[in-house]
Amino acid sequence: MRKLIFSLLFFSLIGANGQTLKKCAVRDLKDPKYGVKYSPYFAKKSEVFLKNGANTIFEEKLLRIPIVVHIIHNNSSGTIGGKENGNISDEQVFSQIKVLNEDYRRQFGTLGYNTSPVGSDMNIEFFLANFDPDGKPSSGINRIYSPKASFDVFKDNFNLSNLSYWDSNRYLNIWVTSLKDDFLGYAEFPTGEYDGLELDETDEKIDGVMIDHHAFGKKIGTANNGVYTDGRTLTHEIGHWLGGLIHTWGDDYCGDDFCNDTPPTESANLTTICVPKYSNCKGQKTLNMIENFMDYTVDSCMNIFTQDQKNRTRAILEISKRRKRLLTFAEFNLPQTEQLVVKVLENPSSTDNIQFQVLLNAFGDFDYQIFDNFGRKILSESYTDTPSRLIQISKNSLGKGIYHLKVKSGNEMIFKKLISL
Ligand SMILES: [Zn+2]
Repeated sequence: MRKLIFSLLFFSLIGANGQTLKKCAVRDLKDPKYGVKYSPYFAKKSEVFLKNGANTIFEEKLLRIPIVVHIIHNNSSGTIGGKENGNISDEQVFSQIKVLNEDYRRQFGTLGYNTSPVGSDMNIEFFLANFDPDGKPSSGINRIYSPKASFDVFKDNFNLSNLSYWDSNRYLNIWVTSLKDDFLGYAEFPTGEYDGLELDETDEKIDGVMIDHHAFGKKIGTANNGVYTDGRTLTHEIGHWLGGLIHTWGDDYCGDDFCNDTPPTESANLTTICVPKYSNCKGQKTLNMIENFMDYTVDSCMNIFTQDQKNRTRAILEISKRRKRLLTFAEFNLPQTEQLVVKVLENPSSTDNIQFQVLLNAFGDFDYQIFDNFGRKILSESYTDTPSRLIQISKNSLGKGIYHLKVKSGNEMIFKKLISL
């Protein structure tokens, strides 16, 4: 079976009206080197996967994604914001995060809202990371000067990462810079085998999204002119990065995007205006869903992720190790520490629960045990491949008294006294 080692990128096309359209595409899927093997085997497997309800813990839960924005600019004066300044303002960054949340939550009253019967609230939110990989408070925005004026999406991913990078097991890295050759962006896919995709583990240092600052943010700063200034480039790219979503036309003539509720589509919508487009796949005329975020439509036409796209995303999050780690990290949003630390919060607790944080120095394994004064084990639990996390224990499961907590991770062990009143 051929492996898929491709990433997504934007390239420029000259539209019929002579206007330059910048679009997103996968590398030529017919190229055996990068080809996606769409096989019945994968289709069947996916059906079973979904029917079995293997898409479990992330299925309906609100997912929150911590973002770090690396602004890689060529402005040696250090000035922030202003005309054609790649060292874009914080406000430009904030406007982009806002668009992501409108689109991934189908927020009423915004451009991300739709009334489509197959439209879904992806139930995913994004936030700028509030501490860095060392646990220090952070704005989630890094500004790095580089003497290099622009970057090549094919050759420079490691160069960008070497300038600024946070652990992609915990953060979505977004490199905002000037991209060469009119490219707008580039995203890595999640890894795992699923529905037409058989994805090798990518190097974690380049796992993220590259985006040109002119298409980053909404009608502000350097993203203030043209058809890609509603922030949808990033919505689209994150569709690939997070859920392994495929373009609506399946990157082939009437190709498969493995979502039944996106109509069959001959090809990308390459118009600059939002007018109905039709396909004739398998002898049947259908209306294209040009509003779909995974089409090539310009920003102003887009407002739909479908229910199947949501299902696909949720299913992929179950099998992609790095994405799953990131979501677990985000759920607790606790820093790493150099060595094992156990913090009991409020002891005795004034609520119905006893809570303690277990802080680890990386994703790892630990277990805890709780003993009563007679040395009897009352509770125990173990965790594997977990980031630092919060544990909550109902007081009812312990009863009143003094207890002894033992937390063990590798060869480190910590004891704490718990008071349950
Ligand atoms: Zn794309």
